[in-house]
Amino acid sequence: MRRKKADNDERLEEYRARRDLTTSGEPDDDGSDTGSRRFVVQRHDASSLHFDVRIQVGDVLASWAVPKGPSLDPREKRLATRTEDHPLEYAQFEGRIPQGEYGAGTVVVWDTGDYENRTERDGAEVPVEEALEDGHLKVELHGEKLTGMFALTRTRMGGDERNWLLVKVEDDAADRRRRPAKSQPESVLSGRTNEDMGDDDPRDDD
Ligand code: MN
Repeated sequence: MRRKKADNDERLEEYRARRDLTTSGEPDDDGSDTGSRRFVVQRHDASSLHFDVRIQVGDVLASWAVPKGPSLDPREKRLATRTEDHPLEYAQFEGRIPQGEYGAGTVVVWDTGDYENRTERDGAEVPVEEALEDGHLKVELHGEKLTGMFALTRTRMGGDERNWLLVKVEDDAADRRRRPAKSQPESVLSGRTNEDMGDDDPRDDD
């Protein structure tokens, strides 16, 4: 799953040695971000319920906490607070984070799949690392609950550098009626809900 450039070069040594890619018409690994990448949205019932939206950027998951979760309605702007990058392995994580730990509570993989970078400037694709740095990226999600294009834009609302907005882009997958964040709380991996993940509600503890 990891795609370290140096590792890729090593792995592609034989592929490249066997071909003249300038004439074969076959693709090389050019380190661009046009290819498919993983995304995950985790429903995290911690001190406050939120959804963690994570997309693979390089070898990590860039992450945002979205209190209301993603909406399929392009009219809905959802606050998305940038949080620390997570390791790629985190995309499969669900379970209970014990009391006393950072983020204590339950986590389910609410949705996951591949995504494509659709960020463009003047008709040319902007690499996802650059888009993240610039504070605007557009991604096409291929999940079970979430499909189609979403835009993430840094607004610095309230003067906070971490504040972004997550908005559904108007396309065939836009839907003004379906509200998966409310109606489909369960994990796409296990079918379990946050409640199934543990008896302990961290908010009940003092
Ligand atoms: Mn979280």
